[in-house]
Amino acid sequence: MRSSSKFADLAQTLEAVRGTRSKNQKVDAFAAYLSKLDADDAEEAARMAVGTSSERGSKDEVQVGYSTVFTVLKGITGASSDDVSKTYLKYGDLGEVAEELLRAKRERPLFEEPLTIAGVSDSFGRLRSAKGKGSGATREALVKSLLLRATPLEGKYIVKVMTREMRTGLVSGMMEGAIAAAFGSSKEETAKAHMLLGDVGLLAKAASRKQLGSVRMEPFRPVNFMLAEPLASAEEVASHFGEAAYAEYKYDGVRAQVHKKGDEVRVYSRRLEDISAFFPEVTRGAAGSAYDFILDGEIVPYSGGKPLPFQLLQRRLRRMVNFSEAAKNAPVEYFAFDLLYEGDREVVELTLRERRKLLDQVRAGTTLRTAESSTVEGAGEISKLFRKSRDLGYEGLVLKSPGSQYTMGKRGSAWVKMKEELDTIDAVIVAAEYGHGKRAGVISDYTFAVRDGDELKTIGKAYSGLTDAEIDEMTARMKEITVHDYGYTRKVKPEVVIEVAFDSIQRSDRHDSGYALRFPRIKRIRADKSVGQADTIEKVEKTFAGQRLKVDRASG
Ligand code: ATP
Repeated sequence: MRSSSKFADLAQTLEAVRGTRSKNQKVDAFAAYLSKLDADDAEEAARMAVGTSSERGSKDEVQVGYSTVFTVLKGITGASSDDVSKTYLKYGDLGEVAEELLRAKRERPLFEEPLTIAGVSDSFGRLRSAKGKGSGATREALVKSLLLRATPLEGKYIVKVMTREMRTGLVSGMMEGAIAAAFGSSKEETAKAHMLLGDVGLLAKAASRKQLGSVRMEPFRPVNFMLAEPLASAEEVASHFGEAAYAEYKYDGVRAQVHKKGDEVRVYSRRLEDISAFFPEVTRGAAGSAYDFILDGEIVPYSGGKPLPFQLLQRRLRRMVNFSEAAKNAPVEYFAFDLLYEGDREVVELTLRERRKLLDQVRAGTTLRTAESSTVEGAGEISKLFRKSRDLGYEGLVLKSPGSQYTMGKRGSAWVKMKEELDTIDAVIVAAEYGHGKRAGVISDYTFAVRDGDELKTIGKAYSGLTDAEIDEMTARMKEITVHDYGYTRKVKPEVVIEVAFDSIQRSDRHDSGYALRFPRIKRIRADKSVGQADTIEKVEKTFAGQRLKVDRASG
């Protein structure tokens, strides 16, 4: 194995980063550490420091379940299940549990060579490839051999990467600053390369090799999606643009980038995960084009010229369901609405008007569709088209400025979305319990939370909206991710995102966010969103303030 720096230095640096509240100090501490590493170690260390071990967009990610870590910790420390679960309740963080329990480590490894970045990364690689039936024992053995060799502090950070719960406050944007400072690259250059690489590891490696300037957009390296700002009425939208805008239907499906180069096609979700295997129709459909490209669009359940309910599609995205049957029941079409790359060049800096023209060109020969687009001006035309979109079964409209560039990962004002109903909240399930009456045997009540910086704050509890089949799946899932079972209710690892509709938001001291949703109901499980993409307390505050404004207007 290549020569590599000690993992202990990374663990100590992360401990220092975690220990300060100052963002500048976090960035400085990590930059000082990174600057001493070679390019390969810098790549791995930067990634691990944001809680992951593989390149963004790769099909594999180390994801070790809580139960595996619990079992290993019990095995090597002699702790009982009760000890482990009590320690977890004390900290609410599995990394900290590992640190405390490993202090009382019972078994000793045969040799005491210090762990290195390359060594740990190699073990993570082996964990990634141990998959499928019968892999449980191999995975457990790999985790055990790592934790046996680790000091308590190293163990803490190894567990944090394995469970993808870093929580040091060094978020990906700050990591960008640390990389720029460590290797002396400019902020602008680093930010642009980060946008294209979408991965802090590749960014650190390129910066260390002074190659940021030659980073280009390329097929099979997904980039962050452009997002839309919500506006409530046709009048607001009309005055926002102040001139003619493109209007497209708002398709209710799964946002996806389609990448093609030569004969190869891949599809990526908004989490930048490779979801090609779920949508063979889309990969096959794209193959006929003579061009290489990166498209942005939406995968929509669709048949007979009409959109079908979104729920059908969701089943295809979930693991436990028979895939070929779901594919038959939920035929899909891909509606492309943007083009990011064509031939061998990135086209994000062209105007939307120009990109749409090119889009028609590259789509020729494929069975992919393009989103219908029309030009609208003024509130009258916008409301008319909005009503039409609803009549046809779409969610509303997305309006776009024809002269705008494609801004990756940004919620700019160039794209605006318009839906009828009150906004919904995407929240994370943090606890769950068995239902009542006909739902007595299933886990059907979920307490959910929104993001507040690095933390999650509860905002409500919902027990309606899902189908019986979905509740059965959720029951299994909640059991799988339980971190403490109180009998009737259980605390779960925060990883399931749900979209919650509600009547209004109230102030409340029942939940630690200080707010409660009134009459919450689950609209859907957001399998396409990660915890980091759930809504924030700021959004709740904004919605709360907006709703007061409406009440004031109505009564005034
Ligand atoms: P966001 O994507 O803004 O974080 P969200 O995922 O909760 O929010 P919505 O608020 O419902 O979704 O609307 C935005 C989404 O609408 C986009 O992410 C995209 O998936 C979808 N969409 C559907 N049709 C279009 C279109 N024509 N142009 C752009 N986006 C569209």
